[in-house]
Amino acid sequence: MAMTELYCRSRNITGLSLQKDRLSRKPGSSYIRGMAEGFDFVRGKHVVSGGTVGPLAIRVSRGKITELLPYDVVPAGARVLDAGNLHVLPGIVDTHVHINDPGRAHWEGFATATRAAAAGGVTMLMDMPLNSIPPTTTPNGLLTKVAAMDGKTHVDVGLCAGLVPGNAANVREVWAEGALAFKCFLAETGVDEFTYVKEDELTRGLRGLADVGAPLLVHAELPPPLDDAAKLAATLDPRTYAAWLASRPKAAEDQAVDLLVRLVRDIRGRAHVVHLSSSTALSLIERALHEGLPFSAETCPHYLTFASEEIADGETAYKCAPPIRERDNQDKLWAAVKDGRIVQVVTDHSPSDAPMKCSESGDFMKAWGGISSLELGLRAVWTGARARGMTIVDVVRLMCEAPARLIGMTGRKGVIAVGADADFCFFDPDADFVCDKDVLQHKNKISPYDRRTMKGRVHRTILRGTTIYEDGEFTLNQGQWVRRA
Ligand SMILES: [Zn+2]
Repeated sequence: MAMTELYCRSRNITGLSLQKDRLSRKPGSSYIRGMAEGFDFVRGKHVVSGGTVGPLAIRVSRGKITELLPYDVVPAGARVLDAGNLHVLPGIVDTHVHINDPGRAHWEGFATATRAAAAGGVTMLMDMPLNSIPPTTTPNGLLTKVAAMDGKTHVDVGLCAGLVPGNAANVREVWAEGALAFKCFLAETGVDEFTYVKEDELTRGLRGLADVGAPLLVHAELPPPLDDAAKLAATLDPRTYAAWLASRPKAAEDQAVDLLVRLVRDIRGRAHVVHLSSSTALSLIERALHEGLPFSAETCPHYLTFASEEIADGETAYKCAPPIRERDNQDKLWAAVKDGRIVQVVTDHSPSDAPMKCSESGDFMKAWGGISSLELGLRAVWTGARARGMTIVDVVRLMCEAPARLIGMTGRKGVIAVGADADFCFFDPDADFVCDKDVLQHKNKISPYDRRTMKGRVHRTILRGTTIYEDGEFTLNQGQWVRRA
C-alpha cells in the first residue's frame, strides 16, 4: 500500500508529526501552533470535485492543489492525510459576514468571527462594509479594516466596500485598493455612519461600478412600503413576532428587486440581491435570469430553516431584516434554491451584544436585526437540503462555487481543482448535531439555532494546506487579507 499514514477519526494520528504546541487552554478554547503537518496528499473516498462525489487523491504543494489522482495512485513514500469515511468538501466561501471591528468590536471581532468560520468549515469570508467605524466606504476605511484584522484571522478575509450617498465618484479608488465587491442599502441601515442610497444615487453608483467591473450587492428593501407598514406594526404588541413581520412586508423587497432589475437592464452593471426573503420576488428574478442580465440573488440559512409560525413572543434572536417569513414562503425559497433562481446561500452573520438584541425585554421593534450563524451555515443548509432530496454536491455549488464566483475567486476558492487554494472541509454528513449556543465561537452567544438538532459535523478545516481547525482545536494567525487580483 503506497499510503504511508492514516488520519483516523479517533484523532489517533500516526507519524504525521502533528506538533501540537498548546499555547493556552481555557474552557472552549485551545490553540495549536506550528502545524508542520507535512502531508503531500489529502485523500478520501468521498471527495466533492467536478460536480461529483468520489474517491480522489489531491496533491497539495505550497498551499495549492497541484494534481488530482485516482485514490489508489499515490506515489510510494508520499505523506497522506486520509479523510477516511468523511466527505472532503472545498472550504466554504461565505460572502456575507459582518465583522464590526474596528469600532464595534464588542458586537463581533475578527478573532471570534473567524474562529467561528474555521469551526464551520469556512475558509474564506467577505466582510460587509458597515457596522465598523470608520465604514469601508473610502480607501482609508478599507485600509483601517485591513489593519484591524492583522494577526487575528483564522481564515482568509476579503473586504466588501460600501456605496453610500456622496461616494459614487470615489468607488474607483476604493476598488483599486483591492475590494472584492460593493454593497449598498436601499433603506435604513441601522447605523449612522452608513446611509442608504436613493434611486438617482443607485443609478450613478451602478454606472460607476459597471465601468470598473465591480459587482454591486444590494440590500433590497424600499422605504415607501416599509413606512406604510410601520404604521400598522405600531398598533401591535412589540413583543410579538407578528409585529416585526408586519413591519417588513414582501412588497418592500419586491419593489426593490423590480427597481434593481430595471436598472441592470438599462446599465448592464453586475448586481446581486443579498439575503432575499420574499418568495414573490422570485418571478422578477426568474425573468432577469431568462433575459441573461448580469443579475443574481442569494438567500440565507435562517430563511431556509425557520418559519414565522414557530417564533415565540420575545424571541428576538430570530430578528433579522428582511424577516423570516411563513412556512409556505420558505418552501418557495427552497424550490428556487433547488432550480437555480437563487444562486447561493450565505449566512449574513450579523451579530450584536445582548443589550442591542433586547434579549431582556424581548422587544422585536427595538432589537438589533441580525442572526449569527457563520459556524452553523453549512450544517443548517445541509440539514434542509438533505431533507428535500438535494445532495452534498448541490450544497457545494450553493456555498462554495457560486459565492467564489460572485467575488471573482473562481478557480482559486470554493473548488477542489488543480490551481485552487488547498482549502478543505472534512465533513460527516450523517452525524447528528445538537446546537449549544454557549459553545459557539462567535463573540455574543445569541442564536436562534440553540437546542436545534441538525445533520452534519465539521471535523477538520484546512486553509491553504494547513489545518486551522480540528475537532474543537484552532490555530492562530493563518488567515490573510485576500485582495482582488
Ligand atoms: Zn447583512
